[in-house]
Amino acid sequence: MTSKINRREFLIQTGVMTLGLGVVRASQAFAAPLVVSEVPPRKRPNFLFIMADDHAAHAISTYGSRINKTSNIDRIAMGGARLDHCFCTNAICTPSRAAIMTGQYGHINGVRGWENIDSRRPIQTQKLLQAAGYATGMIGKWHLGRGGNSDPQGFDYWEVMPGQGVYDDPKFYTAAGEKQYPGYATDVTTDLALNWLKEGRDKDKPFYLCVHHKAPHRNWVPSAKYQHLYEDVEIPLPETFDDDYAGRPAAAAAKMRVTRDLTLTDTKGAKPPEGLTEKERRNWFYQTYIKDYLRCVQSVDDSVGHLLDYLEESGLAQDTVVVYTSDQGFFLGDHDWFDKRFFYEETVKMPFLVRYPREIQAGSVRQQFLANVDFAPTILDYAGVTVPPEMQGISGRAMLRGQTPRDWQTTFYYRYWVNGDEHNTAAHYGVRSDTHKLIYFYCKTLGVQGATELNPPVTPYWELYDLRNDPHEMHNIYADAANAEVIGVLKAELSRLQKKYNDEPQH
Ligand code: CA
Repeated sequence: MTSKINRREFLIQTGVMTLGLGVVRASQAFAAPLVVSEVPPRKRPNFLFIMADDHAAHAISTYGSRINKTSNIDRIAMGGARLDHCFCTNAICTPSRAAIMTGQYGHINGVRGWENIDSRRPIQTQKLLQAAGYATGMIGKWHLGRGGNSDPQGFDYWEVMPGQGVYDDPKFYTAAGEKQYPGYATDVTTDLALNWLKEGRDKDKPFYLCVHHKAPHRNWVPSAKYQHLYEDVEIPLPETFDDDYAGRPAAAAAKMRVTRDLTLTDTKGAKPPEGLTEKERRNWFYQTYIKDYLRCVQSVDDSVGHLLDYLEESGLAQDTVVVYTSDQGFFLGDHDWFDKRFFYEETVKMPFLVRYPREIQAGSVRQQFLANVDFAPTILDYAGVTVPPEMQGISGRAMLRGQTPRDWQTTFYYRYWVNGDEHNTAAHYGVRSDTHKLIYFYCKTLGVQGATELNPPVTPYWELYDLRNDPHEMHNIYADAANAEVIGVLKAELSRLQKKYNDEPQH
């Protein structure tokens, strides 16, 4: 460490410590602020928790999307807060869902990879809310296992899709059996949610409703209504589309390239026309992929509009905490990829928009770190329910109100467990600060459900990124001797976080 700066200043420079900085930036609002109601809540708030599957923040207009508009999803941000640094502790469907429900990392809640949830576990948001007198509902994609002890528990009403579900004429099941609904999955899910809100719930209680869309998960089947959307439009290519993966062997080994690994199912049977140049062929795959993805998003945006309209028309909007999020982000052709899994910005960032007029200033933007394990404590805090010590996350309520505690988390611990698997993604963990990201690809299966040996193999190695100068993480600077001090600080922080969360390093 250079002698001219002290350790505290150095920690601030490496982003491990950001004392005060986040608080200042969080006060910036992007829209005309409304006065936050000073009237204390007369009653406990309702919760409408809307979660899409694989909806990246960079396909939401309030996050600055260059490729689409989401006018209804944006309504939540305009009436509440947008979080720019909300992270998924393990960027893949099933583990993220378990982390959200339990407030725990996967090695604690038992879902590191494709394991089923043990629904008998008592530390689950909906169980605690139900015990506290909430009406609880769960509609849509569950994806935490079926039958045995993995069906939903703690919900007064649940109706969910088997496995990944399907887009057209989807089946749903309850404890009583299975039922097929005519129509498009996103619309059916919305109708089931509205039915429960209007007629199904016990209206003497506050409610907690989870609406979990299948969309826009692979294989990106649009509704008939939107199958021609963007037909005559050229969607701009991502800046990193022509990435050569230099210095990043795990990225090079991954099998999720838009221009190579999409299947005929993904392209709905279409193949690139004969006679294209290589550049045109690559663009054909991108346009084919991204247009179907965005068409699926459009139906999700409609769904959010219908749900918000209901809250407003029924007089519930003031007393309902509305969340819009996704189980993790997604590569939208970034690095020539679809899918997720990597601890890179496009996938580890979750969209997180929250509206609660009684506490959250309309149009606020927050830069503080929040993670999916923090959702459960935050919801319980709003409901006035004690957060169990077994939950590893923290409540974001005060931060969202604009009163961020001085010791707010300024680093984030990530771990992806499913080595190999369908997309040959190396298992890894790491730490992110405000300015840097350190990743260790340890490349081991460790008995995790779904994990396989890598083919092609990857030798364990480290990556380091300076997010200020390299926001797209194209330049692994771990080997640069000038970064030895930064690496030392980040490794110490990684070790601290692993101890904090009761996880173990791999050697
Ligand atoms: Ca997902």
